[in-house]
Amino acid sequence: MIGDRIRQVRELRGLTQAQLAERLAVTQSSIAYIESGRFDPSDGLLDAIALQTQFPRTFFKKEPVDFPLGSLLLFRARLKLSARDEAQTHRYAQTLNEVAESLAQRVSSITLRIPTLEETPERAAQITRTTLGLSPDTPIPSVVQSVERAGTRVLALPLELEDVDAFSAWVGRPTAKPTIALMGGKPGDRVRYSLAHELGHLVLHQAMSGAVQEIEREADRFAEEFLLPEVAMRTELTAPVTLTPLLRIKKRWGVSMSALIMRALHLHVINDRQRRYLYVQLNKHGWGKTEPTEIAVERPRAIHQMAELLYGKPIDIRRMGIDTQLSESFLRECLTVYSGAELNAEHRTPASVLKIRSGDF
Ligand SMILES: [Zn+2]
Repeated sequence: MIGDRIRQVRELRGLTQAQLAERLAVTQSSIAYIESGRFDPSDGLLDAIALQTQFPRTFFKKEPVDFPLGSLLLFRARLKLSARDEAQTHRYAQTLNEVAESLAQRVSSITLRIPTLEETPERAAQITRTTLGLSPDTPIPSVVQSVERAGTRVLALPLELEDVDAFSAWVGRPTAKPTIALMGGKPGDRVRYSLAHELGHLVLHQAMSGAVQEIEREADRFAEEFLLPEVAMRTELTAPVTLTPLLRIKKRWGVSMSALIMRALHLHVINDRQRRYLYVQLNKHGWGKTEPTEIAVERPRAIHQMAELLYGKPIDIRRMGIDTQLSESFLRECLTVYSGAELNAEHRTPASVLKIRSGDF
């Protein structure tokens, strides 16, 4: 229905009905009527909407593909997300997923291997490691590559939100596809942790039901065991836990020092008093919020690769725009987030690298 399409695009552009109406010189109620399907817009109005939102006319004629809110709902429940930001994030994911879907239909797809389990989060993480072909006790070289190879669709959204790193959902019918949407602007260790946390939701919580805190805790327990398996941590995280070994473990395992401190607490290597002391130490170095980081930001590859396969290298954005019924500017905006375009440079350096001297702590 054309009204659904207009709403999708309006929310993606971060506009209220009143704001769009003002730009089109119509009343807010006429936008409301059109979105609810009571009126169809005139050809002239549709042209104006297309122009204002920078989406081609053909896009509005196509049926939207549903995209559930999934774990994005949990952010709303924790009051971490405004309705506008939630809608915009959701609409970007929905639209980008349509792009991915239209590419995937024309290239051979990967067989689904992400398990759905009713196990403890720890056991589920161990099973998932095995299913993904990862050893039980070594660092995961690239979390994003592991999940993409197992058929998870990873969407990199050209949006940054302070309180949201990622969200996930099982998308589509009859066969639902595990899907993770990543927000931009996060450090590499956070990206890896968020991917593992969302993978936990996909494996453990197909239906997002239950107490929010409980669900979040389970996804965190999954992420901890997935990234930092207990069997390996028993030899890595040994007393006394201080910042020097934590920094070394961080580099090797690609997980933040604060996450390692929590892991040590949960494995009873340290107690709560020691945890607080370590956090004070982190803050003393100004690492409470921004840790010294040398963890490269992982970027999904699958969508970019499909686009290269179909539209050449470099990607012929014009042809891709015609096939996907999207504007070149929108596609460019989305595709640059993946490891293409500005990332074509041969040596990619992480955004912020702080030099650490030994003896700093
Ligand atoms: Zn979560």
